[in-house]
Amino acid sequence: MKYEHKPIEERWQKKWEEAGVFHASNHTDKPKYYALIEFPYPSGQGLHVGHPRSYTALDIIARKRRMQGYNVLYPIGWDAFGLPTENFAIKNHVHPAVVTKKNVARFKQQLKSLGISFDWTREINTTDPEYYKWTQWIFLQLFKHGLAYKKEMAVNWCTSCKCVLANEEVVNGVCERCGSEVIRKVKSQWMLKITAYAQRLIDDLDLVDYPERVKAQQKNWIGRSTGAEIDFKTSEGDILTVYTTRPDTLYGATYMVMSPEHPFLEKWAKSLKNRDEVQAYQQEAARKSDFERTEIAKDKTGVRLDGVTAINPATNREIPIFISDYVLISYGTGAIMAVPAHDTRDWEFAKKFGLPIIEVVKGGDVEKEAFTDCASGILVNSGILNGLTVDEAKEKITQALSEKGIARPKVNYKLRDWVFSRQRYWGEPIPIVHCDKCGYVPLPESELPLTLPQVKSYEPTDTGESPLAHMAGWVNTTCPRCGGPAKRETDTMPQWAGSSWYFLRYMDPHNDKALASREAMDYWSPVDWYNGGMEHTTLHLLYSRFWHKFLYDIGVVPTPEPYAKRTSHGMILGENG
Ligand SMILES: [Zn+2]
Ligand SMILES: [Zn+2]
Repeated sequence: MKYEHKPIEERWQKKWEEAGVFHASNHTDKPKYYALIEFPYPSGQGLHVGHPRSYTALDIIARKRRMQGYNVLYPIGWDAFGLPTENFAIKNHVHPAVVTKKNVARFKQQLKSLGISFDWTREINTTDPEYYKWTQWIFLQLFKHGLAYKKEMAVNWCTSCKCVLANEEVVNGVCERCGSEVIRKVKSQWMLKITAYAQRLIDDLDLVDYPERVKAQQKNWIGRSTGAEIDFKTSEGDILTVYTTRPDTLYGATYMVMSPEHPFLEKWAKSLKNRDEVQAYQQEAARKSDFERTEIAKDKTGVRLDGVTAINPATNREIPIFISDYVLISYGTGAIMAVPAHDTRDWEFAKKFGLPIIEVVKGGDVEKEAFTDCASGILVNSGILNGLTVDEAKEKITQALSEKGIARPKVNYKLRDWVFSRQRYWGEPIPIVHCDKCGYVPLPESELPLTLPQVKSYEPTDTGESPLAHMAGWVNTTCPRCGGPAKRETDTMPQWAGSSWYFLRYMDPHNDKALASREAMDYWSPVDWYNGGMEHTTLHLLYSRFWHKFLYDIGVVPTPEPYAKRTSHGMILGENG
């Protein structure tokens, strides 16, 4: 007998749906179990084999838990803002919402035919105003608590499309869409202060059951290091401060390197004898991405400042200052002390520019190459530190310089604040207005959701503003504080926004008074098991943990961590990779 899977599966899927066998209840005495998969981005291609891989695994868990007597929440929704839909809309002149609706219908039909036991009554969509109302609400709370602020930032700018590009749209230094040159341009951007949570995002990994590899990725991204800030005097009288994890190697610091964007350069312009050369180098650096600039293998370039020098505070020797693009203004203090004997990049730089290389940790042959295996070892050529171990020397030099007031122990993080602006149409509008008198003013919560207006074109403007900037009738508004004329923010939120809290909405998806009721969150929190791709283990987890911790701090959610357990699997690739 032939197994006619189509009619049989359809019949059972219909029965399941009619009986609501996969519906989770918010009113029951049963123990709860919350199984979560990463909700998909509804692309035009329909389901990818990687989607069911993740969903099937948790479907098995969800079904088992139901049989064990649990009230199981296994929900599904759509993470539907984002670039591919937007680019499709631009090219074909259709509203991204229309594209999204069509794509969602296809995904839904495919998922239903697979028979995965999702609770479809809790379906959510990040582009639904009833959903993003609460994304905007969270943004307003962040703003009111000083965790959302505006800052001038370098962005990727396509010289031909005249628009800001996301990092993933820049391929080998050119625009992914048109192949034109991409330069760095300064724009004012909304930022979220995730750095305020850096330490807790590390510490609270002890509270959760994640694979060690995932925890390590979170920690690496945050990049905590301990060291010292050390002040170097300059011939201009200004103090050039550096951050180093290796204060013990100070005696081997034979030159300094500043970022080409360092504000002192402007100040020192009169004293610089090679000002033209410096400016030419600054312009060249402005054209490169941070990624290109910090690539280890790249050629070492730089310009020595002619006319300004520094003093090494340990040796009291005069040392030269360079500018080089591998030093980023956004990390540390924007200047470093270079110890060529024990750092490969500094060593190559020193060789190229003929600078002294002084061994300070014994063990290598620093004339041949940098001796970098120096996490432990004995100090040499280092005055008061000679004969000490690396750890002893770190402590001694930091203390000695601290007593003189020219150094401070310091914890540093690689984590940067989160750039939260896109100059694009298809995202959540940022619910802030700018008033000349009052500055940035939050919209009253009663005016949420602030919906996307209808626009004629989804292209960014010639000056790189979001297409919303064209909508004078939408942009011009009154200030909620003083009633005077004001302008709406025209940037939208990045695609990460909607996925940073979606698991909360599933707990109570139709609530119009709150992102979810406290009772629902008390019952369902935390997510018991979150399964998804390894490619999302860094940023998505970090961002959603950050938002959750913030919501916990302001008393909205009951737990400090959103996910009790996380598993991550690899990607399924086609033969072409
Ligand atoms: Zn372009
Ligand atoms: Zn005002």
